[in-house]
Amino acid sequence: MTMRLYNTLTRTEEAFAPSLDHTVRMYTCGPTVYARGHIGNFRTFICVDVLRRTLKYLLGYRVKQVMNFTDVDDRTIVGAQQAGMDLRPYTDQYIAAFREDARALGLEEVEENPRATDETNLRAMAEIVGTLEKQGHAYRSDGSVYFRISTMPQYGHLARLDHGGMKAGARVDSDSYEKEDARDFVLWKATKPGEPAWDFGTGPGRPGWHLECSAMALRLLGPPPLDIHAGGIDLVFPHHENEIAQSEGATGKPFARFWVHVEYLIVDEQKMSKSLGNTYTIPDIIARGFRPSAVRYLLLSAHYRKQLNFTWASLGQAEEALRRLTDFLSRLDAVNGPGAHPDIAARVEAARTAFATAMRDDLNTAAALGAMFELVRALNSAIDAREIGAGDATLIRAAFDEFDGVLGVLSLRRAEDQKPPVPVEEIERRIEDRHAARRRRDFAAADRIRDDLAARGVLLEDSAGSTRWKRK
Ligand code: AMP
Ligand code: ZN
Repeated sequence: MTMRLYNTLTRTEEAFAPSLDHTVRMYTCGPTVYARGHIGNFRTFICVDVLRRTLKYLLGYRVKQVMNFTDVDDRTIVGAQQAGMDLRPYTDQYIAAFREDARALGLEEVEENPRATDETNLRAMAEIVGTLEKQGHAYRSDGSVYFRISTMPQYGHLARLDHGGMKAGARVDSDSYEKEDARDFVLWKATKPGEPAWDFGTGPGRPGWHLECSAMALRLLGPPPLDIHAGGIDLVFPHHENEIAQSEGATGKPFARFWVHVEYLIVDEQKMSKSLGNTYTIPDIIARGFRPSAVRYLLLSAHYRKQLNFTWASLGQAEEALRRLTDFLSRLDAVNGPGAHPDIAARVEAARTAFATAMRDDLNTAAALGAMFELVRALNSAIDAREIGAGDATLIRAAFDEFDGVLGVLSLRRAEDQKPPVPVEEIERRIEDRHAARRRRDFAAADRIRDDLAARGVLLEDSAGSTRWKRK
């Protein structure tokens, strides 16, 4: 089975199927781990997660997905210096935060999460640099190595660059390295005082950002071409254009068949980005009383190739929409009459078809959600009219499980509902404190612990000398 997927390389929707073994080999440019990711970043990762789930659960492919952590670049180095930390422990913190937020947003774990500074990856980068130098695609200058763009006539194809407008010789970028041509970009940056440096045959220095992705993608997902390379729309140029130049220069083969780009999450007409100071993180959202499941719903509800304007009102509407779905499913749980109705089965089947058709049409999530809500409306009426039986309910639940395999919001909601409002370790520690208070006959302190937990949604029950807890 195939789907239609928009390919930035051809600027058209094309039929997508993997090229090898029924396995989709997909690379996603991951976060730069110098700060906690914001929900703009997560829009991209959630949309790619929906693509991954569609390929797996709706189309039945195996997926091998690699998403890197960019743990060395200008921003991570400056951040670590300002924090007075070594680069590795500095970036560790943001990788941990990313994993925590990704879990909260129901992102499936991908098969590989390489870090740029792992030795195997650095060696792979050095190898590409060596190959590019040998083939004349790279040159050294002041201890750094640059990619020579004039050797790649195809350069600029992805971004549809106008070569006439790109003049050789002019210095357009802010770094102080010497290049033959303004368009040339750095593959390996010569070491500077106070910066981390590695040398696997390239001379002491550190990798350029673009090289990191090419090396990790080719090492873990080769042979090229990969099936899908994905990221946010801002990566088309120069990042992805440069990844293509390096990879194709080194291997002589096309790098990726499909390029998938997710549009911006915006706030008041501007891209949500750390430099503009208009970002929200998952902890920010939780502090405002919203749940990560609502964020996931909101960010996947709009088509990934359209900009999405974030407002607190829209997050509130996402919360409400999600609640309509879960209310319906609770109502369904109470259906216990006998029988199954052919017209209900037909409606469910029509919704499954509409959902699948929408998702296979370049991930039309808005239409897929529309099909779900239309079904919910019809079934709510059927429940009101008592024209629905336990046999129907089983079928309906199976359909919603199928929808949710792809969207991943209802299961996330359920997991949130089951999570105790206070971490279990804390509850257990407080129970111990309360026993200790009672042993020293400080009943006021013991009661305070009980009342405090009750105020936070956890009830303690004493029986036969032991204490159990439950959700309020
Ligand atoms: P970074 O951590 O800056 O490397 O970005 C990680 C990913 O988030 C990249 O794929 C970016 O393109 C993407 N991204 C950054 N800002 C936004 C935004 N406002 N909306 C959607 N994606 C974004
Ligand atoms: Zn990348």
